[in-house]
Amino acid sequence: MSDIQAILDKVLGGGRMDASECATLLESNDFVRIGLAADEIRMRKNPKDVVTYIIDRNINYTNVCNVVCTFCAFYRRPGKPDTYVHSIEEICKRIDETIALGGTGVLMQGGLHPDFNIEWYEELLTTLHAKYPDFQLHCFSPPEIHNISLISQLDYVTIMQRLKDAGLNSMPGGGAEILDDEVRKRVSTKCTSQEWLDVMRAVHEVGLRSTATMMFGIGDDVSHRVNHLQKVRDLQDETGGFTAFIPWTFQRENTALGRKITEEPTGIEYLKMLSVSRLWFDNIDHIQSSWLTQGLRLGQAALRFGADDMGSIMIEENVVSAAGADTDANESELRYHIREAGFRPQQRDILYNYVDRDDISDKSDSMGLKELSVAFAD
Ligand code: SF4
Repeated sequence: MSDIQAILDKVLGGGRMDASECATLLESNDFVRIGLAADEIRMRKNPKDVVTYIIDRNINYTNVCNVVCTFCAFYRRPGKPDTYVHSIEEICKRIDETIALGGTGVLMQGGLHPDFNIEWYEELLTTLHAKYPDFQLHCFSPPEIHNISLISQLDYVTIMQRLKDAGLNSMPGGGAEILDDEVRKRVSTKCTSQEWLDVMRAVHEVGLRSTATMMFGIGDDVSHRVNHLQKVRDLQDETGGFTAFIPWTFQRENTALGRKITEEPTGIEYLKMLSVSRLWFDNIDHIQSSWLTQGLRLGQAALRFGADDMGSIMIEENVVSAAGADTDANESELRYHIREAGFRPQQRDILYNYVDRDDISDKSDSMGLKELSVAFAD
């Protein structure tokens, strides 16, 4: 017990935790004390009374993928009958619906299509940016950029500059899973840890921001998780380009890996990872609750364990829902959960700027559960 208090005191006093101290916290069962310290740091780093969220839509432009990840239930091999590629008209229809619901951006990602070169992505972005100049395009992930580099024989910086010029606003931190190749090679044939980091370095070098993620519970242990945290913090020291860190747990349903793994991370393990992330990343402003994967109740509890952001309403989501995460919420429900945790809900955009809408009603914020359930039935 004294071991962890000394570490918590060091961080609360403005010091930086090292890898062995991080491992000690992750191995501790005292998640409440770790959570209290994380909450204290979160209150210092971000406004005490506000929890932010974003309204966007996850458009998965294709499910065709030429690599294999045993934790993925979304991908289809090229040539299989149930593959798809969304047309530009289909993507625009989804964006129109998102704007009608108060959305400010789109999170667009897809499988690693064997035929999509840099020109395909440039045309997609150019078309969308011309039609929706103020709508934020938060798109792709390091594995997709690595795939473009293989197809078009271009370096990451050139690709990112061209995508930025075509209208890309920022990049999600997907495809990180665990940034330790001992684990990655067991579960995926996608890009290595170093390639993931090199793409993110290029993203930041051309002046774009991104998030960083971690999906744990895929056969990793504490040492692998610490390696992941160390690599992300080191890169952030170098570039300062990450806006937020978002850890979540592996969603196992319908996946090959899920049939093999018998134990999955518990709610306490999730909260502890979230809190340790808040204490570890003295150089990243925001820690996001992943209510979509953890459920609304645990996602709400996360707001008292270091998270200052509730993530996305996510009007459409296909990847984690294919793997069994079936949580759903509309804006009123998310705002209700934020308020019940003791905070003022505040919509934001992808770069964490506040978004104030005339049509947002505070009526739902003052509703009780009974009224809300009636409202949801409408
Ligand atoms: S996680 Fe991404 S890269 Fe891996 S199989 Fe699924 S779609 Fe392909």
